[in-house]
Amino acid sequence: MNAVWTRLLAIVAAIVGQSAYCQAQNAPTDPVSVLVGRLDLEAYKATIKGLTQFGDRREGTARNRMAVDWIEAQLKSYGCTNTERVKYVYDAPPQPPQQAAAALRGSAIASGEIRQGLGRSRLRGMTLPVVPNNDPNAQTDPALRARNAELPTPGPREEVYCTKVGATRPDEMYIVGAHMDGRGFGEAANDDGSGTALVMELARVFSSPDVKTARSIRFALWNNEETGLQGSRAYVAQRALLQGKEDPPGSGRYPEPRWIAMIQHDMMLWDHGMPRPDGVVSPEQRPEADINIEFQSAAKFADAAMRLAFFFRDANEKYATDYPAAVGHHMTNTDSTPFMDLVPAISLREMKEACRPERDGTRTIISRPTATRRTRTRIFAWG
Ligand SMILES: [Zn+2]
Repeated sequence: MNAVWTRLLAIVAAIVGQSAYCQAQNAPTDPVSVLVGRLDLEAYKATIKGLTQFGDRREGTARNRMAVDWIEAQLKSYGCTNTERVKYVYDAPPQPPQQAAAALRGSAIASGEIRQGLGRSRLRGMTLPVVPNNDPNAQTDPALRARNAELPTPGPREEVYCTKVGATRPDEMYIVGAHMDGRGFGEAANDDGSGTALVMELARVFSSPDVKTARSIRFALWNNEETGLQGSRAYVAQRALLQGKEDPPGSGRYPEPRWIAMIQHDMMLWDHGMPRPDGVVSPEQRPEADINIEFQSAAKFADAAMRLAFFFRDANEKYATDYPAAVGHHMTNTDSTPFMDLVPAISLREMKEACRPERDGTRTIISRPTATRRTRTRIFAWG
């Protein structure tokens, strides 16, 4: 079993465990095991493949809008039919194309040297500069270059979500999210087709007619993450004040149930491990790869988020087959950030975003055309 699947098991376990109860036909004593058994690796792979048909799904382009439509159609086909959209405007001019660094060398941090990373973290070991590719011509595959040719324009944006309505507490909900937009002129399969497909797979499993959860669960596919979390920020700005309001009064319907927690997924495919001194990051997943569950120690809800993170870690220990989970406290640069002072928020990633050096290498490599091809090969050969 691979790491991604292990992550899914932990997530299902955590949500069901926290969401109070689940009823499946002829349910044995542990309903989590029933849902875990319904996860389908082939369906997950097919969804990633489906997302890559829209290239990198960069915000502000037709390929991004088509991907939002496709995601909504998939959610409905799973039975998560109450889809809705958040609409907002993103007016910032797009970044001009820039050449990605051609060659990177690792730089060693000396013993005792304190070098600051993102999210109040401290970098250690070998590091590589963060250089996301913003040059269409760096894509050497002509088909991918053509698919991603349109550059973004400022204007209206949309993102889609659907909701599993709770059976006994429809006025409270978990938000489970991933960002569907990408960049780099490849297929954005890992960042973040992998998280998007994961959230969609969870929507499929939880939407089965025989599954009931006490509380509601919202499956949200954010847009504009790569430009600065504008999609999740728009959601918070538009909907935070609607929480827990019954509308119309007496109807038992809650357009925005009160938020219990926000759980984000970004880059779920594999953990490369530390770069070598020459700056090369292994293309293979390391056997000791782990799942990083992060909260932000500076958040207003840090204590509750920490407990949630360890709940996920415990779920991993109970249900995962191979890869362990580690808890970190430097959650940053992800769609759970706009929620973290309002509700317990955590982020699941293949690596700690802020303080592990391979983060830089992975981001850089994924944005390179050669690595894009490698990503495709790995996903489609994966089994
Ligand atoms: Zn991402």
